[in-house]
Amino acid sequence: MARRKKVYEGSAKILYEGPEPGTLIQYFKDDTAPTASDAQPAPVEGKGVLNNRLSEFFMAGLNAIGVPTHFIRRVNMREQLVRMAEILPLQIVVRNFAAGELTEKLGIPEGTALPRPIVEYYYKDDRLSNPMVAEEHIVAFGWANQQDLDDVVALALRVNDFLSGVMLGVGIRLADFRIEVGRVWEGDFMRLIVADEISPDSCRLWDLRAAAERSELQPGAEPGPMADVYQELARRLGVMPSNVTHPAKPTVIN
Ligand code: ADP
Ligand code: MG
Repeated sequence: MARRKKVYEGSAKILYEGPEPGTLIQYFKDDTAPTASDAQPAPVEGKGVLNNRLSEFFMAGLNAIGVPTHFIRRVNMREQLVRMAEILPLQIVVRNFAAGELTEKLGIPEGTALPRPIVEYYYKDDRLSNPMVAEEHIVAFGWANQQDLDDVVALALRVNDFLSGVMLGVGIRLADFRIEVGRVWEGDFMRLIVADEISPDSCRLWDLRAAAERSELQPGAEPGPMADVYQELARRLGVMPSNVTHPAKPTVIN
């Protein structure tokens, strides 16, 4: 059997050539991306298996409501088949509650409910530590045009509404998240689709259930980060690997 070709290895995933042209296999590793405070965080055992399931769950759900994503189908515990896309060199962040850079750089107190979702762009370049950029930079340097950006915002806001609702349904606040968007061609038409992954590695999740329990002793307790987030999110959504004894809920078919 011919060995399949590795296309790219990043911090969290490996991409292999897919079985048909225009497809890729995405393999989810247990490693996590370096952060400002930790250049090489320890792998989280089993994270890749859960993120493969979780990203499948969110992307298949988006496909089902007409938000186009790269997800085609899950292949096994750690791999899924996706459409190959030409990824815009941007990370698109949507914020609902203040945290992270909004707090550190702009001084908005953590946890503040934002008056409306805020969409931000970061230039995807690890050597530059993914700096924040404005639409002006993106258009001037040809990373995307204005029409693309209008489509990106529309896509990001639909993803936000879907994810916020799904999370709220299981007692979780989606403070913010990031996505990557890529181009695919259908005949002469180009469209933008959600690519990469949607998982706890790309979402800031706060536990409303734990906060409600704490509030009984400590009125007004603010929600904080989810403990054991990969396992706990998978458990609440009923998205568990098949080797677990409880029957997993059927996933949405796209
Ligand atoms: P990184 O460390 O660069 O974030 P990851 O470990 O997350 O890398 O690996 C995923 C890589 O694959 C990213 O560079 C991402 O942009 C790219 N990618 C994700 N989905 C697709 C797709 N559908 N087509 C092409 N490239 C993709
Ligand atoms: Mg990545």
